[in-house]
Amino acid sequence: MARRKLVVGNWKMHGVGADIAEIETIAAAAQRFAQVESGLCLPATLIERAARAVPGFPIGGQDVHFADKGAHTGCIATSMLADAGAAMVIVGHSERREAQHETDEDVRQKAEAALRAGLLAILCVGESRDVREAGGALETVERQLDASLPRNSEIAGLAIAYEPIWAIGTGLIPTIEDIAEMHSSLRQRLRAAYGDAGEEIRMLYGGSVKPSNAAEIFSVTDVDGALVGGASLKAADFVPIIEAAALKG
Ligand code: PEP
Repeated sequence: MARRKLVVGNWKMHGVGADIAEIETIAAAAQRFAQVESGLCLPATLIERAARAVPGFPIGGQDVHFADKGAHTGCIATSMLADAGAAMVIVGHSERREAQHETDEDVRQKAEAALRAGLLAILCVGESRDVREAGGALETVERQLDASLPRNSEIAGLAIAYEPIWAIGTGLIPTIEDIAEMHSSLRQRLRAAYGDAGEEIRMLYGGSVKPSNAAEIFSVTDVDGALVGGASLKAADFVPIIEAAALKG
């Protein structure tokens, strides 16, 4: 079945008001590739300004709390993201799993809350370098996925991002065969969890995606797009990645 390609930028802790102009440039260029769904997950402080500046271009958050409200200093609820104009949110990024000690159970609850709020939830999984070198990548990531998957009845807004931790920001990527093997095995897990609906969930690859490697990565069966960090900060890098997805769309 044809899944619409999804290419999302993760700006991490980059971006202030002066960068709205770059976001406008990216959003204007992305319109040329309507067959691809693209967007930017921004620091919380920029979401509302960006959403107003580029109506129609999806803006998202990089994390969310699973509670609707309460005594959670510094946290943001799904309703707050949506109220600010966000259409999507990343959950379980490895930088949060590692630095904030987020567990699979936390990630599952965040994904469930995001879906309940009508947000596109991009759920990240991925193995460390040690695990990859020890030959345990498939088993580890499958286990992580199974434990993090939301149990909502409505999962149309769910996307998975396979992001090997050792490939993030390093310029290294797995072999195309390894990406294909991982995505195919994660597709089986999605089918096991959701039946036919698992076939419709988009699976992104993330980790050092660049204009120079995007086309090859997008040619892999079951790679339905990308989650892009560093190369999403500038239109000059990000737009060619969206274009590569459009050519494979
Ligand atoms: C990321 O952090 O999600 C990511 C994929 O980063 P980069 O593209 O910079 O490796």
